Amino acid sequence: MALIVQKYGGTSLSSVEKIRWAAAHLVRTKEAGNDVVAVVSAMAGETDRLYEMCLEVMDPPDSRELDVITSSGEQVSSGLISMAVRALGHDAVSFQGHQVRILTDDSYSNARIMDIDAVRIREAMGCGKIVVVAGFQGVDSGGNITTLGRGGSDLTAVALAAVLGADACELYKDDVDGVYTADPEVVAGARKLRRVSYEEMLELSSLGSRVLQGRAVEFAKKFGVPVQIRSTIEPEREGTWVIEERSAMGELEQMLISGVTFDNNQSKITAIKVPDRPGIASRLFTLISDEDIVVDMIVQNVSTEGYTDITFTVSRTDFKKALGITERVAGELGASGVVSDKKIAKLSIVGVGMKTHSGVASEMFRVLAAEGINILMISTSEIKISCVVGEKYSELAVRALHKAFGLGEAK
Ligand code: ASP
Ligand code: MG
Repeated sequence: MALIVQKYGGTSLSSVEKIRWAAAHLVRTKEAGNDVVAVVSAMAGETDRLYEMCLEVMDPPDSRELDVITSSGEQVSSGLISMAVRALGHDAVSFQGHQVRILTDDSYSNARIMDIDAVRIREAMGCGKIVVVAGFQGVDSGGNITTLGRGGSDLTAVALAAVLGADACELYKDDVDGVYTADPEVVAGARKLRRVSYEEMLELSSLGSRVLQGRAVEFAKKFGVPVQIRSTIEPEREGTWVIEERSAMGELEQMLISGVTFDNNQSKITAIKVPDRPGIASRLFTLISDEDIVVDMIVQNVSTEGYTDITFTVSRTDFKKALGITERVAGELGASGVVSDKKIAKLSIVGVGMKTHSGVASEMFRVLAAEGINILMISTSEIKISCVVGEKYSELAVRALHKAFGLGEAK
């Protein structure tokens, strides 16, 4: 008998029919002889609706009450799923974060899980019940309701799977059925991967792949939770396993690159000709991080005659704020000017095969050059190479790279 955690995302719960389908799937899994714990998101669009309502009442909203309100979407869907299971004649019970008890720190809206006491879940499973847990929510040591950041139900599912020692954590989606070599809407021949390693998935999540919350992948990696992304549309089909590199190696070894992605939500800012002396980068990036702006790439040139240029990228959402800060501090830094570009994209190729193979970067640059695409910035990690290019080239570049690295070919 296996213990399976199944997470149902918001789009898989967007109507009463879909809720019934999820309940029936839980029952099928249980009848096949497994113990099942469901983790549910709010019904599609509900969390956004709640956020917007809060903003209408108070902007910026009170952080404690914001979590009281936004966590309620999951309360509704957990109750509904449990009821739908009961309507099918099976026993089920729903638990909220504080009932489980998912103890978090007190950073409202983005709380970290400190501890999970799964006694009530185990008791209920012991009585033969299907347990339905509201995702996304926890409770701090003072008893206040907290939430785990957008997409946080993935984290709830992975964390519960870790604590319960589950055999698998299945994440059901209905907009995707796995992780692909590229966005199938952009690359016609994109192929679903059978397996990716946690590390690759982390890079893919941080690159804007919406498949899995980044923090959930980090957690899965830390505790070795085998995660599978599956489709509610075709639940019998194998999805993509996100697992440890070692166990994925057989397949990964043949593959240099697992995927090509791009992110158009990028912009870049350059402080030109700043004096090359200690404290300049520190001053600029402290001001930027004080505003909670996340900087992605940073490039500083070799200095000539005591001056250098500093270029960095931020999401387009933060562009105006970051540009404003840079322009305000430019005089103090001794910069001769600030230039910026809002129409850029970040292209990345990801693959653990890069650790052991050379020539991947040069191949990427060759492909871009052959398409006449100019590279504006480059950054690399052990398993990723990213190039910033003009936004208008991003889709062309993804297709060319996908083809050059043979990603569409059946393995
Ligand atoms: N409902 C929350 C959100 O929309 C959590 C989740 O869906 O994972 O971010
Ligand atoms: Mg979601």
